[in-house]
Amino acid sequence: MKEPSVTVGIMSGETIRFVFNDTYTLGDLTVEGPQEAHIEQGRIGWNGQLYDQLVFTPQHSNDSFCLKGVTIGVKFHWERQEDQTFRGTLKLIVEGDRLTAINELGIEEYLLSVISSEMSATASLELLKSHAVISRSWLLAQIQKNKALAGKKPVSCIRTHDELIRWYDREDHDHFDVCADDHCQRYQGITRESTPLVAQAIKATRGEILTYDGQTCDARFSKCCGGVMERFSSCWENIDYPYLEALRDSRHEHDIPDLRVEENARRWICSSPEAFCNTTDKQILSQVLNNYDQETTDFYRWSVAYTQQELASLIREKSGIDFGEIINLVPVERGPSGRLIRLQIQGTRQTLTIGKELEIRRTLSPSHLYSSAFVVEREEIADGIPRRFVLRGAGWGHGVGLCQIGAAVMGEQGYDYRHILLHYFAGATIEKLY
Ligand SMILES: [Zn+2]
Ligand SMILES: [Zn+2]
Repeated sequence: MKEPSVTVGIMSGETIRFVFNDTYTLGDLTVEGPQEAHIEQGRIGWNGQLYDQLVFTPQHSNDSFCLKGVTIGVKFHWERQEDQTFRGTLKLIVEGDRLTAINELGIEEYLLSVISSEMSATASLELLKSHAVISRSWLLAQIQKNKALAGKKPVSCIRTHDELIRWYDREDHDHFDVCADDHCQRYQGITRESTPLVAQAIKATRGEILTYDGQTCDARFSKCCGGVMERFSSCWENIDYPYLEALRDSRHEHDIPDLRVEENARRWICSSPEAFCNTTDKQILSQVLNNYDQETTDFYRWSVAYTQQELASLIREKSGIDFGEIINLVPVERGPSGRLIRLQIQGTRQTLTIGKELEIRRTLSPSHLYSSAFVVEREEIADGIPRRFVLRGAGWGHGVGLCQIGAAVMGEQGYDYRHILLHYFAGATIEKLY
């Protein structure tokens, strides 16, 4: 098999300005230097003519082009524009009333860029190799999924009169495989230099992916599982994969209490069981947390407190629903890692059950709650209304698949990347595709 390529949506706008740093070709034409394309009568106006799409191809593998004013960090507080440089093919297409610039390139080069910008410079080689294999697997699984869907939108929201169950996956790009922002994976081409250790990890694992029963694994990862890994269906659509099972993130312990039972979940979350990811080792944490200095390290077990007013206005703002004063937050359904899949919000004006895990995390925090594996304590109750809520929780992120903190610990303890991968994706096979 030949190395597959990936199409990445970089930016869109009514006008797109770009520069070819080397000679590119468009059919028989050769093109160089600064260019400008704009939307005109639903088509692409470029060089005095109208086109349905434009595909500029490089002549050599090192040839590059620059896109002017790419917006990065869309909707984040650090949103800004910058010029970015890419290798590979530049494609311009029409999407609605705008142009979209798409970069098509080999998967290995794409991975070099995304893993360099995602991972901390202190990460160990075995951790980076693990990441290279799961990123490659995830990407190929998404490409295959998009092809199978063929433009059809899968269901991702179920609303009844008393429930709102939503999940957020990455199937909403019709004309390219992934976008360049955090929604999929942050990709900035060759704008920033890649890390030598990442290059080594990618080269050493070239073409390797995780498979199960001959199928590419939809390999997920999150920061910290909290001691037990979660199932796919607790976070996304209602399917489960044998290689994404609820397992203890531990070498010694294999028994898991049934954390779907409230009493067991409470005991689990309010204790600090042994696990690979149960660590406070600063050197290890800095391998995974890019902005380590600015981030708290209390995520294996954490707590958040809100006053009645804070919680009520937060939920109103995030959900768009006025619940009145919040009477209680009641766990309705938990997954095997203790993560809430459905949570009932009881208010003086309204009661509604929300899910799945990300919807719960978004609704109960100005940004995102660390995880949905939490228990609720109500304090200072007067006339049935608590004045204060304390959420005690476990883990950071959805907890499905590889646990980054746990994997970093395993890397430090001398496990090689194959061990690490097969610990988190039990029963999977590491296969070299090309
Ligand atoms: Zn995306
Ligand atoms: Zn873990």
